[in-house]
Amino acid sequence: DSEQPTYQRVLLKISGEALMGDAGYGLNPPTVERIAREVKSVHDLGVEICMVIGGGNIFRGLAGAAQGMERTTADYMGMLATVMNALAMQSALEAEGVYTRVISAIRMDEVAEPYIRRRAVRHLEKKRVCIFAAGTGNPYFTTDTAATLRANEMACEAIFKGTKVDGVYDKDPKKFPDAKRYETVTYDECLQKHLGVMDASAIALARDNSLPIIVFSLDEPGGFRGILAGQGTYTKVH
Ligand code: UDP
Repeated sequence: DSEQPTYQRVLLKISGEALMGDAGYGLNPPTVERIAREVKSVHDLGVEICMVIGGGNIFRGLAGAAQGMERTTADYMGMLATVMNALAMQSALEAEGVYTRVISAIRMDEVAEPYIRRRAVRHLEKKRVCIFAAGTGNPYFTTDTAATLRANEMACEAIFKGTKVDGVYDKDPKKFPDAKRYETVTYDECLQKHLGVMDASAIALARDNSLPIIVFSLDEPGGFRGILAGQGTYTKVH
């Protein structure tokens, strides 16, 4: 078909929870496969794709720290959890015939490539989907910050943040039926009103580099490709 992609290179950020489907924990293979098919359909358009996947479905550093574990240790466990999710996504994408690389911010050479910026750029140019794992490699950060960092480093035109809701609302739409969705919202408004798009360091990093964040729902089938073409409902943070 004659569908022309508006973007050349993007980063898709999904939380670990997006992979658990209806389960309360871990990975739900049909959900991982569905997301892989959505990524493939965008990849088929020739768009270069980076991915960052969270780890909250397996381990969250803060929750571990709350139970008395040292924060940094708990955060490293969280980062390792993202590697498992990245490997699951790699496997699902390759089953769809999409070439991928898992690139880890923490060295584990038998499992994933180390992060070398120029090498990652080369993978993208060769149309391999780059799945960036282990967050930023540093405790006290989140995978949202990792997504913003990698999107800047890879010169992505935007971050697409797939969530359970179709954008950013002025209050929680699951609790308040009169919640209003923003069509667009500024970085500063997100920070001032604590809109919960991403954590503050991620938003500040996006703002300082004028990197748009597009928040959309992963639950709508065909969503990612449609959103890339500007269809469907979403919020653009700019
Ligand atoms: N984490 C970290 N540094 C990073 C990225 C992640 O320490 O650069 C840890 C942190 O403990 C976090 C966990 O990994 O709670 C999982 O990441 P995140 O909470 O961002 O996952 P998501 O909510 O997107 O599933």
